[in-house]
Amino acid sequence: MKPYRILLYYKYVHIDDPVRFAEEHLQFCKELGVKGRILVAEEGINGTISGTVEQTDTYMETLHNDPRFADMIFKIDEADDHAFKRISVRPRKELVTFRLEEDIDPNQLTGKYLKPKEFFEMMQRDDVLILDGRNDYEYDIGHFRNAIRPGVRSFREFPEWIRQNLSQYKDKKILTYCTGGIRCEKLSGFLLKEGFKEVYQLEGGIVTYGKDPEVKGQLFDGKCYVFDERISIPINQVEDVIVGKCHHCGKPEDRYINCAYDPCHLQHICCPECEEKFQGFCSEECMAQVVKS
Ligand SMILES: [Zn+2]
Ligand SMILES: [Zn+2]
Repeated sequence: MKPYRILLYYKYVHIDDPVRFAEEHLQFCKELGVKGRILVAEEGINGTISGTVEQTDTYMETLHNDPRFADMIFKIDEADDHAFKRISVRPRKELVTFRLEEDIDPNQLTGKYLKPKEFFEMMQRDDVLILDGRNDYEYDIGHFRNAIRPGVRSFREFPEWIRQNLSQYKDKKILTYCTGGIRCEKLSGFLLKEGFKEVYQLEGGIVTYGKDPEVKGQLFDGKCYVFDERISIPINQVEDVIVGKCHHCGKPEDRYINCAYDPCHLQHICCPECEEKFQGFCSEECMAQVVKS
């Protein structure tokens, strides 16, 4: 067993005073020594944190002792070190920014949950549409085979993109998935509200799917993008397919790096050879900026 762990979790449940909750929770996290990013809203909590086995045990136990989070599911990854540099706990209006005219409460309206095995079987039918519920740059390094690439750079662009691109598929079975499940709770609810008849969501997201001992991540091609220092994690234990392409040379690659020119900082897929050749810069222009100064 490795000395550290990374936890990923969320829960849609009413929190009275998110600002105060965030302040107190930050204090608790600091005292405990965990790092990461936690969002708190009136509609619930969403977090990803890293810490030692002991710290994360205490964290999970403490939250489970709060009746609001008693049944919260933590996805656990082992790690050699922290996956974050600092801790932040922020109050927000929404856990995932959707900005709909009329908000969706996943406790009232959401797609049917599918376990990894059910999702795996459903994906192979020919009357389904697999919709990736993440951003385009997440899709680009890994996704379920035959999934539709969402043309969005951020979650809040989904409603319009769906209205423009998927309206003709309202009679199909729609399968949605995202990293840990939180985005699909809202996305699938939105699809139902828009008149899609049969909408399903992958329970626990790609991360849970990759840990299922029966499906072993099958039919997920490439790597799963994650919002911590790991940047991506492997999912498919049976096949190793690379779906990304190096930003410079176009060779198959699924590793993201950030442009070494700080004001640019562009996250781009880069093969090891090109990283050396371009010294971690995304372009000749960015390289020239640093050489100049
Ligand atoms: Zn390259
Ligand atoms: Zn750059």
